[in-house]
Amino acid sequence: MNNKLNSLARLQDVLSKMFEIEDAINDIPKSLKDKQAMLSKTKKAYVDLCEKVDRTKKELASDRFDFDEATRNREKCEKMMESITLSKEYETLQKEIEEAKVHESELRMKISRKESILKEDLIKLQDQEEIMKAQQAEVEEEESKIDEQLALKRKELEEVSKEKEACSADIDPNMLFKFERIIRNKGGKGIVPVHGVVCQGCHMMLPAQFANDLRKQTEEQTDDWKFCPYCSRVLYYEETDDSETQFNDFANLEPTSTEEEESSPVSDDIIDSDEFSDI
Ligand SMILES: [Zn+2]
Repeated sequence: MNNKLNSLARLQDVLSKMFEIEDAINDIPKSLKDKQAMLSKTKKAYVDLCEKVDRTKKELASDRFDFDEATRNREKCEKMMESITLSKEYETLQKEIEEAKVHESELRMKISRKESILKEDLIKLQDQEEIMKAQQAEVEEEESKIDEQLALKRKELEEVSKEKEACSADIDPNMLFKFERIIRNKGGKGIVPVHGVVCQGCHMMLPAQFANDLRKQTEEQTDDWKFCPYCSRVLYYEETDDSETQFNDFANLEPTSTEEEESSPVSDDIIDSDEFSDI
């Protein structure tokens, strides 16, 4: 790699580091927000469960009252049985006692069901309380850490920005701007070699004439830059053991008429209109 490419490769590393720090700065408040959202969700579930427990307790009290009343009613009827002389009265009372027993047993079942629900809910409530305490502690810890983390990252960013200034001094501002965009959009890889006629960034085959021009440009170390028409990355030509064969094989297949070249997608305009359309 020549000097021009070396300085762009160095700039690529610095920019990647810079973007990583910027993303981390943006993510710091996000992680607090995520933790706060989780806590408020737990709090809501806790409040809902508290309300459910209160409801069950009230229902249980009312069911127990009904049960006691049913029991008292049955006992009263049973006592009345002792002083009964007429068989018709006896039958009526007997029927009443049977009905009271059924009612009692229904209420007993209802109470027992509600008691087990209440027991389960109280255990859940205790668990929720512990989760809530742990999440609350996490939020508080995050809040105290956040300022410290942000200050640290901002310092790192300041240092890396100085590095950027230093290694981009010789790069044309327009090119620097484009290159920053490419690094941002292409996950940190903004400058890639071409082997034969293949872009090593997107593995697309480039037109032979384009690859040939790039090869010359790389050899002569001119000040121009070429961008991949498919992935927009900055390209340089790199000789490999079989690049000659690849290049020739492909060159033989490529039509070379001027008309074809004119309609080829390769032109600096494509980079300007697609990748940087919102500038
Ligand atoms: Zn490419």
